[in-house]
Amino acid sequence: MGIGSSVDGTTGGHNSNNGVDGGGGGGGGGGGGGGPCGACKFLRRKCVNECIFAPYFDSDQGVANFAAVHKVFGSSNTSKLLHQIPPPMRSDAVLTICYEAQARLQDPVLGCANEILALQEQVFKPSFTPL
Ligand SMILES: [Zn+2]
Repeated sequence: MGIGSSVDGTTGGHNSNNGVDGGGGGGGGGGGGGGPCGACKFLRRKCVNECIFAPYFDSDQGVANFAAVHKVFGSSNTSKLLHQIPPPMRSDAVLTICYEAQARLQDPVLGCANEILALQEQVFKPSFTPL
């Protein structure tokens, strides 16, 4: 990498604030103590102990994130997708799914491709001269 100047490292990296830590201060294996996760809250269903969304969508910010994901991808597609992914990698997958969903809502035509295209332009423009 080494781009440095324009990137302005935001503290904590890209997976800092997704509620993965789980609220309640690590109270042992029980889980499920306080109400539904953000996904189940949005879907108005009961959050079961093994709810696949629970670690990644908290009942606060996670509701809005899940709303976007549900609108763009659908909850059952998202659930199927997460089941295919090894658990250690799921939080990254959830982050990108949320990102893609939000970008698609903001720009129904290009979605996150809009940002990719803009970045490609930045990367290639200095040396690339179109015919
Ligand atoms: Zn749940």
